Amino acid sequence: MDDAEYLPLSWLSQICYCPRRAGLLLNERLWTESRDTAKGRAEHERVHTQRAERRSDLIKLYEYTVFSDAMQLNGKCDCIEATRSDRGCHIPAAEFPVRLYPIEYKHGTVRDEEEYKIQLCAQAMCLEEMFGTHIPEGALFFISSHRRMVVPLDDALRDRTRQLARQLHKMRQDLFTPAAEYSAKCRRCSLLDLCMPKVKDSAAAYCRQLRQEAAGVIEGEPAS
Ligand code: SF4
Repeated sequence: MDDAEYLPLSWLSQICYCPRRAGLLLNERLWTESRDTAKGRAEHERVHTQRAERRSDLIKLYEYTVFSDAMQLNGKCDCIEATRSDRGCHIPAAEFPVRLYPIEYKHGTVRDEEEYKIQLCAQAMCLEEMFGTHIPEGALFFISSHRRMVVPLDDALRDRTRQLARQLHKMRQDLFTPAAEYSAKCRRCSLLDLCMPKVKDSAAAYCRQLRQEAAGVIEGEPAS
């Protein structure tokens, strides 16, 4: 376990969006910037200032490093609100017990996307493991619209998060990149030009046609 590879928890979001996308990023180290990813990164960097803000019983921790031995993941929380609570846990940044509330920043307007919730849930599960606490909910904050979406961290979301973490590690271990499946998501995917999901279909169809033609020729050959 000591030499186990820890993967970035943000990649759970990639594998949830599209397993092939995660495979291309993970195993083939492909990355390309689209308008969406560039804008998202710029907005993200604005909130990533590695700081803590204190206001009475509330401490806001930004870009907080988290990890999970159970899921072999590590990464950062965009923001954690740590509020004084007698039933809370102890963290190095606070001299009193706190209740933890993770918030993940996203660019654009409010969108109910499973991959965002998975990433947030993974952060919360890391915090729970690190500080022996329970975090029943967190939030997504959409930067452009300044809107917060509360996300309950229920059992189904936690199971799905663990399952995707296992799938991500397996993909990494086997150096396996799944085949493309063209869908509406491809149009928004920054790897579209590298992935070429439609070419895969036509190439596969072309190979099938060649095999059928070859089989037809062999079947049609006169017996010697
Ligand atoms: S183009 Fe489509 S199939 Fe290819 S990685 Fe992106 S979402 Fe997945």
